[in-house]
Amino acid sequence: MPRIAFIGLGSNLEDPRSQLQRAFAEFDGLPETRLVARSSLYRSAPMGYLDQPEFVNAVAKIETTLTPQALLQALLQIEHQHGRERTFRNAPRTLDLDILLYGDAQLHEHGLTIPHPQMHLRPFVLQPLLEIAPNVLIPGIGQAGMAFERCQDQVLEMLPDVA
Ligand code: ADP
Ligand code: MG
Repeated sequence: MPRIAFIGLGSNLEDPRSQLQRAFAEFDGLPETRLVARSSLYRSAPMGYLDQPEFVNAVAKIETTLTPQALLQALLQIEHQHGRERTFRNAPRTLDLDILLYGDAQLHEHGLTIPHPQMHLRPFVLQPLLEIAPNVLIPGIGQAGMAFERCQDQVLEMLPDVA
């Protein structure tokens, strides 16, 4: 049975907007997977480690029959193809891909937690998610829209697409 999943994308190195545009196309090229919708690109300030370039974030909606673990491995592979290096926590990155939601699943496995544990606290996840899925529920949390309202006045700037 195909499932709907939402992927969070982020980049702040090496032309972030084109990193994200390429990633959208690569999702559509994954086995057993198609891209259903993609949000606009949004500009956001770094969190945690502040001395780094601003981020560009977006969310993609996919339909897939890959299992959550197989999808995670496919996304890690795409990150790797984009030259992602893991140095320290909250470090700058060419491409970060997080599984936000996978159907209505709640998973806590080795190396994979769904829903993504921080998503309901992050405007740079919630704002693009709500653009393409205004009524979506975060299992165990509630309406994404309510979570976004709790982020108070942190509204992000929408960026124009690259040609
Ligand atoms: P972060 O996204 O927090 O900056 P990383 O991208 O380096 O950190 O991710 C570290 C690990 O987080 C990944 O190797 C993966 O195993 C794990 N992980 C756990 N849950 C998820 C999820 N829902 N989506 C993506 N990665 C996840
Ligand atoms: Mg990640």
